[in-house]
Amino acid sequence: MKGSPIVDVHAHVTPRRFQEAVLSGRDWHGMTCEDGELDNPKNRWAPERRIEEMDELGVDAQLVSPTDCFYQYDKAPGVTVAIAVECNDEIVEIVRAHPRRFMGLGTLPMQDIGLTVAEMERGMRLGLRGFMIDDHVNGRTYDDPGFEPLWEAAERHHAFLLIHQYGPTTVWHRTPNYFLPNSVGNLVDRTLTFGCLVFGGVMDRHPRLRVCLAHAGGYVPYAVDRMDRGWDAFPKYRGKALDRPSTYLSRFLYDTTAFTDRNLRFLVDAVGVENVILGTDWPAPMAVEDPVRKIRESKVLTDSEREAILRGNVARVLGKAA
Ligand SMILES: [Zn+2]
Repeated sequence: MKGSPIVDVHAHVTPRRFQEAVLSGRDWHGMTCEDGELDNPKNRWAPERRIEEMDELGVDAQLVSPTDCFYQYDKAPGVTVAIAVECNDEIVEIVRAHPRRFMGLGTLPMQDIGLTVAEMERGMRLGLRGFMIDDHVNGRTYDDPGFEPLWEAAERHHAFLLIHQYGPTTVWHRTPNYFLPNSVGNLVDRTLTFGCLVFGGVMDRHPRLRVCLAHAGGYVPYAVDRMDRGWDAFPKYRGKALDRPSTYLSRFLYDTTAFTDRNLRFLVDAVGVENVILGTDWPAPMAVEDPVRKIRESKVLTDSEREAILRGNVARVLGKAA
């Protein structure tokens, strides 16, 4: 796969439609300046300025998604769908203006499954590669059978699903302090989502579903051994899963937001190198710095592993959706 592009699958966009409204003092579907993290100047960069930084970082293309604050699942469904349509249209416009530098993920009005499937079909028709969704929908986790039409539609349309939290994470309810709701909470939420998709039988019912667990899968690689032990010790809690949790590790994809060589190696060993793809969380303050160089110069990866993580795996994963 040498020569295929280096793609950052975890990179966010703050839609210009939102910015123009809130910066001129208006609200945008009920959202205000407070919602957009506009104090981060990179959230206001035009695509051309992003490309300059991508060139500096050695990133050929970004798989861009609206920032998590645009989920807005707790609004009336009609409002959320209006937000999703505008976000998704803007992502499509960015991709069409720079087709070699950007690919797109949209957002969905997840509190209404009918509207969600319709917007998924519309977005995929317009050229999106998939969608970014939260770890839960107003508290409902993905073992809920109500989400079945979403998984069916995602399989049918080869939609790539990036699972990514929005605050407050589960940890916030224990403590809102010390940035723990993000630094720990994001990883806890991702681990719960893995558990709900596996034990809920979603991964068994939908073998072609492509789900990427952002933030390097959270604590999944570490937590799965205890999930296996629970599977062995307490058969009554196996839910709908057909096999031990660790057998599902290779059914998911994981980005490289792992920060250290130690964690990256652990991730690769746990889930298989073929399931790890470059993802940085650009332009968040918590993004991985100089991510391509970090992989290229990593002393814990072989040459073929570096090539797979930077190029080969993402070409395989997104290729089908092209
Ligand atoms: Zn992110």
